[in-house]
Amino acid sequence: MPVRLLASAAAMLALSSAPAAAQGRWLASYPEVQNPMHEGMRNILQLDGMLEEMAESMNQAFRLPRDVTFELAECDTPTATYDPGRSAIRICYELLTELGDREDGMDSGEPASFQNAFAFMLMHQVGHAVIDVLQLDVGLPMEEAADQFVVVMVGLAPGELDHLVDGVVLLHDLELDWETPETGATVLDGGRLAKLTCLIYGGNPEAHANMVEQGELTASRATSCIGEFADVQARWTALLESHLNQG
Ligand SMILES: [Zn+2]
Repeated sequence: MPVRLLASAAAMLALSSAPAAAQGRWLASYPEVQNPMHEGMRNILQLDGMLEEMAESMNQAFRLPRDVTFELAECDTPTATYDPGRSAIRICYELLTELGDREDGMDSGEPASFQNAFAFMLMHQVGHAVIDVLQLDVGLPMEEAADQFVVVMVGLAPGELDHLVDGVVLLHDLELDWETPETGATVLDGGRLAKLTCLIYGGNPEAHANMVEQGELTASRATSCIGEFADVQARWTALLESHLNQG
């Protein structure tokens, strides 16, 4: 599933499989839950080991000054957030349920889009975590920077993550605000969708030629997206360079 492919993208960042000589580690955590339905999901997801795989790939890729936790939790709100105070990415069971429910209510929803939407949200939070823990000077609004991190990761696994854009489009269509559900401030609106789809296209124009054919991108815009992706990739390569394991 796409989250596994994102893990492989993280692994590609690692220039060597040598163990990290770092103080911090990426960790997976499954706090106790009360709701029996969440307990069922917790058992399945813990057995699946997806978060552990993700954490291990990130450990191979990045040297960290402190631990960062991937946490699946019961939260009362359908959210996926990063808490800088605890250095924890928290994915709520309520969000997984809400995403599934909302997608069920749509005519055109495909099961793969759910997984791609989840993968996008998870990786976006990894972006927040990386920026915070590594104290990266991104020079951008935080939401845009975290989105760019996802795009750069997608660019590392061409061919494997081509369908992540379906998840981005689904999140836009669902108007699901997974970070601040009360305010609607970070819902994936049209402007954010346009930036993301442009960069995803620019990272792999051949795989996304249908965007131009279907009129989602004009031919001239598509050409500039290729240059914009190259600029974003170069900036992030420079930002991350000194934090990668190099054997
Ligand atoms: Zn965010």
